[in-house]
Amino acid sequence: MKQKSGARVFVEILGWTLVFMSITAIAIAINVHHYVDTFLAAYRGYHFDDVFISLNIAGLIGLIYSLMRVKDLTLENHRRREAERNVEWIATHDALTELPNRRMLDKELAATAAEGGVQRTVFSVDLDGFKRVNDLFGHAVGNEVLKTVAERLKSTFPHESIYRIGGDEFIVITRGMDADTAAVAGQRIVQQLTAPIDADVMTVDVGASVGYAFSQGGADALNTAIMHSDYAMYAAKTAGRNRAMAFAPSMEQDVYKRARLEGALKRAVREGAIIPHFQPLIDLKTNRVYGFEALARWELQPGEFVSPGEFIPLAEETGLIVPMTEHLLRLCCREACHWPQDVGLAFNLSPVLLSDAVLGLRLIKIMSDEGFSPTRLELEITESSVMKDYPAAQKVLGDLIEAGARIALDDFGTGYSSLSQLSGFSFDTIKIDRSFVTAMNKGERQDKVIRAIVALGSGLGVKTTAEGIEDDEQLAYLRSLGCDIGQGYLLGKPMPAEAALRFMQEREEGATAATPVTEGKAANMVTPLPNKLRRA
Ligand code: C2E
Ligand code: CA
Ligand code: CA
Repeated sequence: MKQKSGARVFVEILGWTLVFMSITAIAIAINVHHYVDTFLAAYRGYHFDDVFISLNIAGLIGLIYSLMRVKDLTLENHRRREAERNVEWIATHDALTELPNRRMLDKELAATAAEGGVQRTVFSVDLDGFKRVNDLFGHAVGNEVLKTVAERLKSTFPHESIYRIGGDEFIVITRGMDADTAAVAGQRIVQQLTAPIDADVMTVDVGASVGYAFSQGGADALNTAIMHSDYAMYAAKTAGRNRAMAFAPSMEQDVYKRARLEGALKRAVREGAIIPHFQPLIDLKTNRVYGFEALARWELQPGEFVSPGEFIPLAEETGLIVPMTEHLLRLCCREACHWPQDVGLAFNLSPVLLSDAVLGLRLIKIMSDEGFSPTRLELEITESSVMKDYPAAQKVLGDLIEAGARIALDDFGTGYSSLSQLSGFSFDTIKIDRSFVTAMNKGERQDKVIRAIVALGSGLGVKTTAEGIEDDEQLAYLRSLGCDIGQGYLLGKPMPAEAALRFMQEREEGATAATPVTEGKAANMVTPLPNKLRRA
């Protein structure tokens, strides 16, 4: 039922009072007292004045009561309007940071339709590493981080519009900035948000990727600028995070390309279309096959391969890395079961997987399902992935080490690590990054780095593997330094599973190591397999 407004009730009461007074006046005019007197003469106990005064007192009480009702109703209406305003606030604001939300942005966008010609700059801000903070330290710490981020944005832009439009996404809209000022402002956001944040009882670090775009005009132009700033933010993320980038038209193409690739990757992972190829690891002392490194291969269409450098980061960002890694390990175990027992399997583990505490146990289960012993497995991880999230990595790797797996530090020399941290971490192999081997013949410095890494390996009692060996000179030199294992196109390119079996057979038959086996050539080889290596 609709409530009457205070003013309306007041008018009604006033109306009734006037009616009452009019009736009294008419009664006086038509000599009603005469009839009343006659009536009272019949009932002697009453006096006309008494009755008149009583009626007036009753009217006054009615009026006072009515005025009080009007006051109550006005108050109630005020409260109602307040509550309505509160509901509106809740619907258009983020309760945690108290910043306006996406709904508010949409509302304000609709309102800007009328204001043409205003120059605005839209900044899309996305935190880097926020999910990791949330997963590792819990939502309470995550919430503190978001509140601090909001505070820092508010203090950086005290007079501008700031919105929280998603979990860790913010939008800032400023007026009247030129390209130079916007570049400085973008940089300031990055600086502000990369500074350490005190959350709960700890200090955490997150970063920010910022994209920005300009709009001159009403709602449509502003909407486009929001989309463009988002593209630029993705470009900043892809370019290495913790940076601010202005929108450029080519970024739009990149986003479409990425979206298409993401869809195709989802399908490929679902259909198990990503398979391992195997690159030989050669024991430089005995010249025998020490093992194979599994490298993921995705053939988008016949003959067209997508590089792992392109799809692995995408798989990591989208979470597809988890089912992809599990599927790859299963296929690798199946293949490795056809290899001689002393030939190992080197398997790459992406850094993002190391924060999944039960990953180790799941991988052990896969190996057990496939009848593959974890003692033949060497997991390749990068030094920075371990150092970044030491406790989580220790849990995952601890489970695998306990089951008998070995650990190799991949791309050694390219990350950051302190020797004290390294010595406190259990690993079995150091893989010298390809860049050092490639640059080896070019300068004395690179030589010294390799020499030092080999010495470090022997000092710590772990094996050293050199990646990217492409010529005989590199091979001979690495051998002379005492490097244990060699890997590179000279010794064998990554090849399909069938070719890996043939590769071992050829080496057994004394084929020279200097005859490189390529991915293309290997697939076409038709040499019959020896019984020992034939598939069941
Ligand atoms: P990585 O682990 O360092 O693998 C070695 C890369 O060097 C491979 O590239 C290999 O083909 C290439 N390579 C080997 N020998 C030579 C050589 O003599 N010369 C040159 N120029 N290159 C050589 P690929 O297969 O393109 O893989 C690139 C990276 O992608 C890998 O680097 C690894 O980080 C990642 N990756 C590949 N497969 C997987 C996978 O299954 N899981 C994960 N997490 N990462 C993978
Ligand atoms: Ca590797
Ligand atoms: Ca490597």
